[in-house]
Amino acid sequence: MKIIMLGAPGAGKGTQAKMIADKYSIPHISTGDIFRANIKNGTELGKKAKTYMDQGLLVPDELTVDLVIDRVSQDDCKNGYVLDGFPRTIPQAESLDAALTKLGEKIDFAVNVEVPDENIINRMSGRRACLSCGATYHIVHIPTKVEGICDRCNAELVLRDDDKPETVKKRLDVYHEQTQPLIDYYSGKGVMVEVDGTQDMKDVFADIVKILGA
Ligand code: ADP
Ligand code: AMP
Repeated sequence: MKIIMLGAPGAGKGTQAKMIADKYSIPHISTGDIFRANIKNGTELGKKAKTYMDQGLLVPDELTVDLVIDRVSQDDCKNGYVLDGFPRTIPQAESLDAALTKLGEKIDFAVNVEVPDENIINRMSGRRACLSCGATYHIVHIPTKVEGICDRCNAELVLRDDDKPETVKKRLDVYHEQTQPLIDYYSGKGVMVEVDGTQDMKDVFADIVKILGA
């Protein structure tokens, strides 16, 4: 099953994508996580990506598309995957489609996690991320057992630089301008489904499972 997660930054795509990946035993591929791992390891890609991410801008398609296409062509993606944070532009979606068509494959579901902009700033300012294992928490909604420490790997959690309110506003503008048009794009392909992302994360997940099948 090949799934794309759509939705505003902070809508809960990553939270749901991890649960989907666990339930259906498919890889979770997050371009944001890939860029953050590159930043942490000081790679050339990481250095370039950081200049855009810190401003709330998208990393250029030239740095993003080949990376994802290589990743989905790997053996562990044969039975499917959940893409989180990609595509984010129409050209990215078109490149993905062209690559999948060559492989004789297609996207089965694009899941839009709907959360209004008013809720997003609160979600993002409360988000705490583990840069070691990729886990994500929220100081109020999804707290850790020990404050500031990852439940899974005991690393210290951080407030992402791009989750500061000024940057979040910019990211929302970029989302509406460049990423939201993907909803029409995937609707036109007959694979678009929507869930109410303002619910508790378990209820959002239950709605997704109803759509994807048990
Ligand atoms: P995205 O991947 O779309 O940017 P995340 O999955 O990282 O979003 O979620 C953003 C923040 O909101 C995180 O702090 C996460 O723990 C929290 N969160 C995710 N889903 C819910 C939910 N259903 N209700 C409340 N908070 C949530
Ligand atoms: P995320 O973790 O999905 O919120 O992504 C964090 C940041 O990484 C975004 O604000 C972008 O700067 C960058 N990024 C992640 N995925 C993409 C993508 N598909 N295209 C361009 N930039 C991306």
